[in-house]
Amino acid sequence: MTEANKKLTQLKELGEFGLIDRLTKDIKIKHASTVKGVGDDAAVLDYTDKELVVTTDLLVEGIHFDLTYTPLKHLGYKAVVVNLSDVYAMNAIPKQITVSIALSGKFSLEAVELLYSGIHKACEHYQVDLIGGDTTSSVTGLAISITAIGEVEKGQAVYRNGANPGDLICVSGDLGSAYAGLQILNREKAVYQVNPNSQPDMSAYDYVLERQLKPEARKDIVEALKKAAIKPTSMIDVSDGLSSEILHICKQSNCGAKIMDADLPIDAQTMHVAEELNMDASLLALSGGEDYELLFTINPDDLTKINLVEGVQVIGEIVPADQEVRLYGKSGGSTAITAQGWNAYS
Ligand SMILES: [Mg+2]
Repeated sequence: MTEANKKLTQLKELGEFGLIDRLTKDIKIKHASTVKGVGDDAAVLDYTDKELVVTTDLLVEGIHFDLTYTPLKHLGYKAVVVNLSDVYAMNAIPKQITVSIALSGKFSLEAVELLYSGIHKACEHYQVDLIGGDTTSSVTGLAISITAIGEVEKGQAVYRNGANPGDLICVSGDLGSAYAGLQILNREKAVYQVNPNSQPDMSAYDYVLERQLKPEARKDIVEALKKAAIKPTSMIDVSDGLSSEILHICKQSNCGAKIMDADLPIDAQTMHVAEELNMDASLLALSGGEDYELLFTINPDDLTKINLVEGVQVIGEIVPADQEVRLYGKSGGSTAITAQGWNAYS
């Protein structure tokens, strides 16, 4: 019998407790702070003298993800990563997660196990303990809620409200690639709906597709900053697009920002997709979401140190609040940045 025609197991054959046993049987606790994980009424954590960071996220089928082109394993991985990214954005290290899912009758045990294989893979990669959660049924589709818990030394958490005029604005990695990947997936989905026999060659899009389907959280950047003895003055992760995130920092820090268009880090493949779709690459970088890079500000005295940190680009400077948040073009003109994107230079 081949994989494809093997009989799938209905969830009702197992029941909720059978399903939970099946999904959590191989968990091995990694951290001393996890006193009790899965298996009691609640988990028990011991953080002694550290500060605790807690964040939660809810992903709903049809709103946040499309199962026609999102493999379940990737979805499980990404659902964990987006939460861990928020913990890193506080300059903290994630240690535990809880996972709750609501499932409709269309999901088999095998499908749920695929989802969990991605969740477990992310737990291994980022060294976090899965310590609990809940499973329930839903009328339609799949919903996943993940809560991540992390630790940070007292006084070392970095907030959105600490930026000061003169601070340098930095971003890790590159921007706009996840959105470029999403545009390609949507385009191919539309082609497939017209012609189900089409076999698109996606090799020219491997990087942007991976950025959309299997993003990573920037644990390495938080570690590199610590090693370089740089404590950012403010930080946020790029989930909704650079425009939206820099506005959050400036609003909470009561300041403006000068962003240099020429310094936005954009991958060559993102440039290529932008050209192909007749979109502006800078607009992709500013407004495309789901990059899960870190946007942060540093004291200008840390410039020499930041230049030694690989994968970080200085893209501008914090200015007083009356100068607004503006994007400066190569020719010197500037335009106000809004959460929705931006218009032509004025
Ligand atoms: Mg965030």
